[in-house]
Amino acid sequence: MDSVGRVYLVGAGPGDPDLLTVKALRLLSEADVVVYDRLVSEEILALVPDGVSRIFVGKAAGNHVLPQDEINHIIVKLALGGHVVVRLKGGDPFIFGRGGEEALHLAEHGIEFEVVPGITAAVACAAYAGIPVTHRGLASGVQLVAGHCRGKTPLELDWRALAHRELTLIFYMGLANLSEIRAGLMGAGRPGATPVAVVADGTKPSQRRLITTLDRAPEDVAACGIAPPAVVIIGDVVMLSAKLDWFVPNAEIAAPIARYGHG
Ligand code: SAH
Repeated sequence: MDSVGRVYLVGAGPGDPDLLTVKALRLLSEADVVVYDRLVSEEILALVPDGVSRIFVGKAAGNHVLPQDEINHIIVKLALGGHVVVRLKGGDPFIFGRGGEEALHLAEHGIEFEVVPGITAAVACAAYAGIPVTHRGLASGVQLVAGHCRGKTPLELDWRALAHRELTLIFYMGLANLSEIRAGLMGAGRPGATPVAVVADGTKPSQRRLITTLDRAPEDVAACGIAPPAVVIIGDVVMLSAKLDWFVPNAEIAAPIARYGHG
């Protein structure tokens, strides 16, 4: 059995290489091969030593993403070939990254694996936009929500459960469905004046941030042309960004709209 390798399912964090964990960085230099996604930043790939092979399994612009089965197959084959594999995924491997499916596949094939958590986009983008996701008196909880489900339109979400005033919502992959999210939340009683932040390219020099309100969010997003990857943060805590915004990305001058509060 010692000819079988092992697989590390590693979270690469949101983009800024300084936000990699020490363990992730160490594993990149110990791996035989790194299998990575589209969301893993160039700066992080630059940390992979020259002798380590890289396999890209993400989606190139206009091309189709490799089917999950095929990714699973590649990882298992590499491990069975005796390699130490780092499966590097954006953010955290177990948050909307299909890391669970890959881990199940490895378990089914009896391949040893470890999971290395990473800083997920929601947490990173909130921090880099000066938004504490929970805050006494404003938000007693936070919920991470998939704003897009393959083949499922409309979104099958429990809008009533999401409409609670003291719940911060953070949507992944939600930009294209923002009108539907607004309709669902406002239909369930969340006020149109609820502050909304859209953070794109979070933690990178190209980070862009839009502050708006729920009733105007889709139009404001369209007007300023902010594009994925982005998270949408909804809740009263977004107002704190006005005082706590500390990160000055290169692209800040390009952010055309910044409207706060309940106007
Ligand atoms: N596993 C990842 C999420 C993968 S789903 C994680 O834990 O972060 C892909 C979605 O993540 C994107 O559509 C976007 O909503 C979000 N995302 C990932 N990186 C991001 C970034 N740097 N800035 C903003 N959103 C990001």
